[in-house]
Amino acid sequence: MTRGYSAFALLRHALSGHEHWPQAWRSPEPKPSYDVIIIGGGGHGLATAYNLARKHGIRNVAVLEKGWIGGGNTGRNTTIVRSDYYYPESAAFFDRSVKLYEGLARELNFNIMFSQRGMLTVAHSRSERDMQRRLVNAGALNGVDLEMVTLDEARALCPILNYAPDARFPIIGGMLQRRAGTVRHDAVVWGYARAADQLGVDIIQNCAVTGIERDANGAVIGVETTRGAIATRKIGAAIAGHSTMIADMAGFRLPLRSYGLQAYVSEPLKPALDMVVASNTLGVYLSQSDKGGLVIGGHADAYASYAQRGNLPVMEAVLSALVEFIPSFGRVRLLRQWAGIVDYAHDSSPVIGLSPVPGLYLNCGWGGGGFKAIPAGGECFAHTIATGAPHKLIEAFSLGRFRDLRLVDEAAAAGIEH
Ligand code: FAD
Repeated sequence: MTRGYSAFALLRHALSGHEHWPQAWRSPEPKPSYDVIIIGGGGHGLATAYNLARKHGIRNVAVLEKGWIGGGNTGRNTTIVRSDYYYPESAAFFDRSVKLYEGLARELNFNIMFSQRGMLTVAHSRSERDMQRRLVNAGALNGVDLEMVTLDEARALCPILNYAPDARFPIIGGMLQRRAGTVRHDAVVWGYARAADQLGVDIIQNCAVTGIERDANGAVIGVETTRGAIATRKIGAAIAGHSTMIADMAGFRLPLRSYGLQAYVSEPLKPALDMVVASNTLGVYLSQSDKGGLVIGGHADAYASYAQRGNLPVMEAVLSALVEFIPSFGRVRLLRQWAGIVDYAHDSSPVIGLSPVPGLYLNCGWGGGGFKAIPAGGECFAHTIATGAPHKLIEAFSLGRFRDLRLVDEAAAAGIEH
């Protein structure tokens, strides 16, 4: 009975008063082991696990989530889905995602409430209009349906906006994507989670990854977590604003910075706004949810932070912009406000693909725009993890682009984060 224990261990046990031998002193049990571990139970992590199981037959997969699934940015965002990007690489990727969203409720058998209500981005100046024309022309080349809209057409589409000619920034027209819209964010998480679970994926909540274990050649052999060590040869990290922390654990640096990005929801109103509207000049965009609340977003906070609350100057700027954009909402009361931690690369494009550590794959750098990317992100990331080579739709978004200076600078395609 005492074989294998030192006198010191026995003494410690006798003094501790424990009824059973401590776990660590018994003959070591084999660690749990998975073919793939996904870190992060947000939309990207769960969509990846689902695609690994569904499309690649890899079902011995665990999703490790430090809190609860959807508690990160996927459950905190303003849910805008669109594909009006400038560069062919971005347009192809994000338009694939919109198309996947169109069939996602049926695929997952879960009502994700995708509402393609259209998105109108107004222009307040000739230079802004020129930028929009450039985007619409790029869309024509990239196969993405974008339209220029005159002032009269904008007025007919969305009469509630401030069209006063003496406004501080008068509206002079805009750009429209009719297939853009909103999706219920937590339903995306639950839909993917349920489908992945049905295919055999383990979803483990309240389990934070605290370390990456590597062999003598530097390759991944497991993770340390708050619930014990787990063996694996492949890790997919999809942890948004905390990605640089995983990179730190694995011994390399990522060219990303994390900021708070806020969202605001008003008290419920009767239906008043039937499309998504945005003004990059004013720095605000919004839609009305099916429950009636105005879902409002704007610029990210000005300094890097992990605080999920956001700061006051941005709140004031976004809400005063809202009142300037739609004066009739001036007396609407704000119900809720929060922030999510989003990670930005220098060129405002994602980092998705291989990492410098064999067996560790990265899905990050989405900034304020990765919700719309979840279906295509999950599809491409699963392919990359399963095959060890990047999916062709994400080749341009590799980490290597920073070394080779082949940036995909999409800052102008959004203007503000959504
Ligand atoms: P997340 O949903 O954040 O999931 C990552 C998960 O990893 C989290 O649940 C976190 O708890 C977990 N995690 C972190 N560290 C660890 C660890 N060590 N161990 C285990 N788990 C860990 N995008 C759009 O396309 N349209 C929009 O309109 C839009 N608006 C936005 C508005 C706001 C206010 C915010 C904050 C974001 C917005 N975004 C938008 C961006 C979008 O929400 C994100 O890009 C997207 O949700 C990222 O998904 P994800 O799965 O990568 O990350």
